[in-house]
Amino acid sequence: MTDRLLELLERKPIVMGDGAMGTMLQRAGLTDGSAPELWNVTHPEVVRAIYQGYVDAGSDFITTNSFGGNRFRLKLHHLQDRVFELNRAAAALAREVAGPDRLVAGSVGPTGELLEPLGPLTQAEAAEAFAEQAAGLAAGGVDFILIETMSSLEEVQAALAGARTTGLPVAVTMTFDTNYRTMMGVTPAQAVQTLHRWGVTVIGANCGNGPKEIERVMWEMAQAKPEGVVLMAQSNAGLPRWQQGEISYDGTPPVMAEYAQRMRALGVRVIGACCGSTPAHLAAMRAALDGPPLAEYHPAFEVPETAAKGATAERRARRAAQRSGREEGE
Ligand SMILES: [Zn+2]
Repeated sequence: MTDRLLELLERKPIVMGDGAMGTMLQRAGLTDGSAPELWNVTHPEVVRAIYQGYVDAGSDFITTNSFGGNRFRLKLHHLQDRVFELNRAAAALAREVAGPDRLVAGSVGPTGELLEPLGPLTQAEAAEAFAEQAAGLAAGGVDFILIETMSSLEEVQAALAGARTTGLPVAVTMTFDTNYRTMMGVTPAQAVQTLHRWGVTVIGANCGNGPKEIERVMWEMAQAKPEGVVLMAQSNAGLPRWQQGEISYDGTPPVMAEYAQRMRALGVRVIGACCGSTPAHLAAMRAALDGPPLAEYHPAFEVPETAAKGATAERRARRAAQRSGREEGE
């Protein structure tokens, strides 16, 4: 099977993802707490229009409406017997809208269950559930599986095992919303190094508390990333706020355009957005990414002291190496 994701990355220095699905569905009327994935069959025209919005905004791939499409999440809506059908529908609609030139990413989110040893779910059970979801996505025609919003490496491992039963390429992003760690305590460096060891090439962060937080997370990943890893970031459009009885996000399109630029400056090659973003945000990001890169980059966060020291030590070592190189007449 050709790896269309790697092919795309070979062709384009920066690949733009898309934006939110869940918050877009809520805007479109999904407010009764029913399963977003059910809308792939009950309101296909709404899901199709959201996909189309991101295609029109210039996304290089669109992500399926299947984030909670595993049997554990669907069970909350008594839809656990429709995993294959709802995932296949999510993917088939996206495939139709994306056409031959854009890619389709099959979204796979967490089960919402704790894996052993912390909880009752075994690795094998989790992997089987993820395989079932991934099979539906593959049948609907996705180009790669996007495992996202993960906070536990054990669950990522199960999701990877499940996703890989399809033979499709897999990208993984985790959410570092707890003081620059995942809820389960995983650091960006641990994530990028562990996932690389598990054979994942495209690795990054999504969701969380907005562009400023993800900037530091991606900076840490960039410092720690093994050679060959492609970094990916899909930030929320800032933080949700209640305004006149409605949730709105404080990350405006210009804020997200600047975030896209700053990601590029950090060497992040797959850049998209998450909760709260809309096609307008993605269009602003597209315009920014089609323009020249930032002339210079200054971190928007306080560089952690230990990391700063490490960087200084590294610079010192590099200077020393250069000096000794010269002395040896290199
Ligand atoms: Zn999100």
